[in-house]
This record gives sequence, structure tokens and C-alpha cells, in this order.
Amino acid sequence: MERLEGRVNAINQIIRERPELRKPLELHTMILEAQRQLRESLGKGTSLDWNDKSIISNLQHDALKSNKPIASLLDASVFDPIVLLHTCEKVAGVFFEKGAKEEELKEFIREMKSGRINIRDAVSAVLKGDAELFENYGEKFRTDPALIFFIISSLIQPCIEEIANKTDNSLREKWWQAPCPVCGRVPICARSKNNKRYLVCTFCGSRHLADQFLCANCGNTDPSTLKFLTPEDNPEFRVDYCDKCKHYLKVIDEDKSGRPIPESLEDIITIDLDIIAKDAGLVRI
Ligand SMILES: [Zn+2]
Ligand SMILES: [Zn+2]
Repeated sequence: MERLEGRVNAINQIIRERPELRKPLELHTMILEAQRQLRESLGKGTSLDWNDKSIISNLQHDALKSNKPIASLLDASVFDPIVLLHTCEKVAGVFFEKGAKEEELKEFIREMKSGRINIRDAVSAVLKGDAELFENYGEKFRTDPALIFFIISSLIQPCIEEIANKTDNSLREKWWQAPCPVCGRVPICARSKNNKRYLVCTFCGSRHLADQFLCANCGNTDPSTLKFLTPEDNPEFRVDYCDKCKHYLKVIDEDKSGRPIPESLEDIITIDLDIIAKDAGLVRI
């Protein structure tokens, strides 16, 4: 993925063209800025050297062999708690600015700083996709568990993006599961090119090939119940949905789209498709 300045410029360009997306895009930029120190460091918050090709190739090999996403194979002990805490305060600061409950979140950060909560435990739960720990934190600190999950996720995002960036085609073409092969999140977006559909992860920027006739939510592969909707005014976008579980994917047809859509912004840019899907009685993954 391009450097921070390039990404911010691309976002500002979109804000000029689509002012109705200003709010979510500005939040996106603020998080990127809060992650700056991590993003600009070599280890991306870890003690590892990501230029060492053997690290990525081993992880990729193990992921394919075990059918587990790369993040779940990472040990949280490689992350540097001091650098992570610094970024954690910055990301939390973004949410204070946006009106989040300050005291509760500050207490959570104090607990991590004092070591009473081990930040690596929180990181480990994000890496393994363990939602339960965040439910506990939410209850203890009277805060939205999803917000705490988001904040801790943002601490590992630069590292996970770096991994996604350095994996090669064999992972993308041989994974054949719905969740992201790098971070394990279930994609809500896809890009279609030359009649191939790639599921897109907006968290880490990874893309992987998925059958056109596969529901990313329930695994349904019956073509007669896998359908699509296209907005009248925007043929480059479509909603692929499953009649069995009523879940959907937002697809950007790159063969029809005019200007390239920057990575990681797919979900925000296709916000209109969520409205179309909701009107059709569909549910977001
Ligand atoms: Zn991912
Ligand atoms: Zn389904």
C-alpha cells in the first residue's frame, strides 16, 4: 500500500468529489494519522524485520497448510507494548474528539499502562478473533466492546497490512475460504475483474479469489439461490446476495468502473449499496 501522504491525498480527493462521504472518510484519515508512528516504523509495532522474506513465506506456508489465517498464527509477544500504548492513546483521542465516553475509555487505557491489563492479551484476542475478551472489557469499563475491539485492532493494523502487502499470489489464489487469509475477517466487499471475483478485506487490504457462486456468509454454492442487484445509475457497483441466508457482498466491477477506487475505502465508497440491500431485506455480514 502507498505511503501515508498518498493515501490521505486520495481520500481528500474523494471528499471533494463526494462530500456526502466526508464524515466516515475524515474518521478514516484521523485513524491513519493516529497510526503514523507505527506505520512509519520498520517493524510496524513488532520486533520483526518484515523485509526478511522468510518470515512471510513461512507464515503463508503455515496458513495454507493449517487453513488458518496468518494473524492467528502470530504470537502477540512480537508486539512492543510501549509503542502500542502510545498509538492506543492517539486512537482513543480520535474517539474523544468524536464524542466517545472519555472517562471509561481512559480507565481502560490506565489499566493497560499500569500492566493490570496486559495489552498483549488484548492483541492476542484480536489476532485470534476472540470476541469474548472484548465483551468482558466492555462490561468492566461500561464501554462499547466493539469500540475497544476497534481500537486494539487499529494497533495491529499497520503490521497486518504489511503482511498482506508482502504475501504472494499463491495465498490469494489457493485459499478458497470466505474469511480473509491474512487477518481472518469476513469480507463485506469484493472486486470483480475478468469475470473473477476477489473478496476484499478492508482491514488489511488483502484480496483473495472466491467462486462467483459462493455465499461468503453461509457457504451456499447453489447458483439458483445466489443472485445480484445493480443500482440503476451505477453499473460499476452491484450487490451479490444469497437467497438462503439473506446476506450480501458489495461488489466493485473493475471492468466497468471508471476511476480506480483506493484500497481499504471500498466499504465507505459503496455505502449506497447498503441502502439498496437493506431495502431489499438483506442483512450485512
Ligand atoms: Zn484481512
Ligand atoms: Zn448465504
